[in-house]
Amino acid sequence: MADQRTLAALLGEFARNMGTDFPIQKTLDRLVERVVQVLPVTAAGLTLITPGNAPTYIAASNEVALVHERHQTDLGVGPCSTAVETGEAVSAPNLRSDDRFAAFGPAAVASGLQAVFAFPLRHGSDRLGALDLYRDEPGSLDCADMEAAQTLADVAAAYILNARSRDVALETSDQFRASALRDSLTGLPNRMLLRQRLEYAAERVQRSGTDAAVLVVDLDEFKRVNDRHGHQVGDLLLIAVGDRLAGLVRPGDTLARVAGDEFVFLCEDVRSADNVETLAARIDDAFTHPFAIGDLELAITASVGMAYAGPGEDVSDRLVAEADVAMTQAKGKGGGRHQIIDLREAEKANERSLLESDLREAVAHGDLDVAYQPLVRSEDGVVTGVEALLRWSHRVRGSVPPLTMIHLAEQSGLINEIGSWVLERACFDRQQWLRQCPGKPLDLSVNVSTRQLMTPGFCDTVTRILDRTLMPASSLILEITEAVILDDADRTTTVLSDLRHLGVRLALDDFGTGYSSLSYISKFPVDLVKIDQSFVARIGHDETGPAVIELIIKLAHLMGLGVIAEGVENAQQRDEVTAMHCESLQGFLFARPMSALAITDQLEASPGGAYCLAGVPRPRTRQRQTRSA
Ligand code: C2E
Ligand code: MG
Ligand code: MG
Repeated sequence: MADQRTLAALLGEFARNMGTDFPIQKTLDRLVERVVQVLPVTAAGLTLITPGNAPTYIAASNEVALVHERHQTDLGVGPCSTAVETGEAVSAPNLRSDDRFAAFGPAAVASGLQAVFAFPLRHGSDRLGALDLYRDEPGSLDCADMEAAQTLADVAAAYILNARSRDVALETSDQFRASALRDSLTGLPNRMLLRQRLEYAAERVQRSGTDAAVLVVDLDEFKRVNDRHGHQVGDLLLIAVGDRLAGLVRPGDTLARVAGDEFVFLCEDVRSADNVETLAARIDDAFTHPFAIGDLELAITASVGMAYAGPGEDVSDRLVAEADVAMTQAKGKGGGRHQIIDLREAEKANERSLLESDLREAVAHGDLDVAYQPLVRSEDGVVTGVEALLRWSHRVRGSVPPLTMIHLAEQSGLINEIGSWVLERACFDRQQWLRQCPGKPLDLSVNVSTRQLMTPGFCDTVTRILDRTLMPASSLILEITEAVILDDADRTTTVLSDLRHLGVRLALDDFGTGYSSLSYISKFPVDLVKIDQSFVARIGHDETGPAVIELIIKLAHLMGLGVIAEGVENAQQRDEVTAMHCESLQGFLFARPMSALAITDQLEASPGGAYCLAGVPRPRTRQRQTRSA
């Protein structure tokens, strides 16, 4: 029999919490836990039953309770439903000989249950569910314990009602959407509420040995919707996506909107990673038909990342971070798909973030360097300019490829700092060479990344650096890639025009790769085209490489643009592109990238007024070579 003082203390504890915002789930979890301590039972659980909906268990004192609660909710019949249907407490002190629960009884007995007691959660004439008490040996509860249990069930009912009315009050109040725990656009839980729910989930998973999963859903190319249709349509699309995803949420799970176009599902008791896969596939399906926004039909896909925590495993922000990594992996594969975290890739991502902090340090300590590769006039082999190429020698990894660096820098927001540093350093070096060899002015080509170019104020940065280094704008060539043009054509045109107004020349780098379209060079204000080295490398191997080169050169000349061939490694390549009237060449055949000092030495060593590279053979002919020759 329950000790009356303990019982009174327990009721007092719950009564005190009722008027506060103390989280309902925590309260109910604590209630079932304490019931087992106070009453002569081995386990306790709470299940909610609302008309028209499948029963859902909402709390269980331990794994045993969880099994029986789950068993009853799966069956839809048992002492719990009987208590709810009749509104009366159900006492089954000896399940083995009780024939009232044909479906539930035998399996429960087989799993070690001997007695069960269910108490309706009453609210006037309505019932919200039941408090279920389990014993692993037969025997009744005495009158006082039955009464105490019913009182606790009534307390639980009052709690649930109180919490619901709080929710209803919140929902109906204007403050609801602005609430600190809700996303104001979709009304879904926000990151803060998700974090709270994660904490509770972690506790439950630890206590009852259940599992949990997090799925991060990120819309693909959402920015394009905003750019094309405006933010209002973008917002409406997010609301529609939120609504559609909310239709996939099971009772007890959480769907949150945590960032612009990022939604997160937190699912508990998923019972296997396979079920997570099923949910992810349903999320994929949710994006197979378009969203109707006013008169518009918007088709959009999403990348879904999943992370699963098995029984007893850690459920925390880490699970969200892992799902986020998986989402990025899905996006990296083209989006519109789901992916469970790939730990090998995650390790790489981790490595990336270490490298990123090393890069930050290298920038701060001035450990970066610039190398220069000569550009040669095809006509006479004279060096007319150099391309500045970023270099970083990592203390452990050795030299880090510049594209890796640029990618890291773009992601970590270091790109402007690094880009400006390269530009200033290169202008400074170019002016230094001119001071040392006044008769041999060199053009200077500097690569500019997409993000750097599109940063507001880039044009001002260039102006400032030109002023500071006294570098003539006409000697500076900024190299951009085709990707920038795709990004936002209108803005790109404006930025490029502004740069040209400074007197700076612009080159389209790596031309012919990626999104290449010959029409770009007619549409955008550029001065030079650099034919990508992959085409040059095909000379002597196939017919299409040279054919594309010839086409690019012809078109560029038609538009009045200069052409540079990159990656010239042998005499055949040099001779063929020269014969196609490509006026500038760059490649290992002439020179590899070298230090500023090495350029000074070569300038000083060149005879007369021209900078020529020692040992560079002069082109044999300016006549077009036939490829069959
Ligand atoms: P890019 O602008 O097309 O630069 C030419 C790249 O081709 C350089 O690689 C150069 O070393 C390499 N190269 C030159 N001649 C030959 C050749 O004959 N054969 C072969 N196989 N390669 C040759 P690097 O220095 O590794 O730079 C790679 C890319 O990184 C550059 O391609 C550029 O897109 C980017 N990058 C380098 N420095 C910077 C920078 O300061 N800012 C930005 N945004 N990007 C940079
Ligand atoms: Mg370049
Ligand atoms: Mg290039």
